[in-house]
Amino acid sequence: MQDDFLEPIYDEIAPLNSSSKNILKSSEIKITGSAKLSMDEGSHDDVNIFIKKDANDNISEIKFICSCGKTKAIILDYSDG
Ligand SMILES: [Zn+2]
Repeated sequence: MQDDFLEPIYDEIAPLNSSSKNILKSSEIKITGSAKLSMDEGSHDDVNIFIKKDANDNISEIKFICSCGKTKAIILDYSDG
């Protein structure tokens, strides 16, 4: 039963300072919280992942688009507080 798997919990991270690099080293990021990610169904085989970045190359949105038409987006908020 693939539908019954537990939701994994991921650490949310943010860059310590904005840079124009595409690769962040672990020393350059901080853990800002945790998040649960899950798919609505367990049977989406053909999912494309789109990553949207802001002008500073920080990832602002991660969008999952399935070939069946379902989409799911994760918005990353780097604002303080
Ligand atoms: Zn699907």
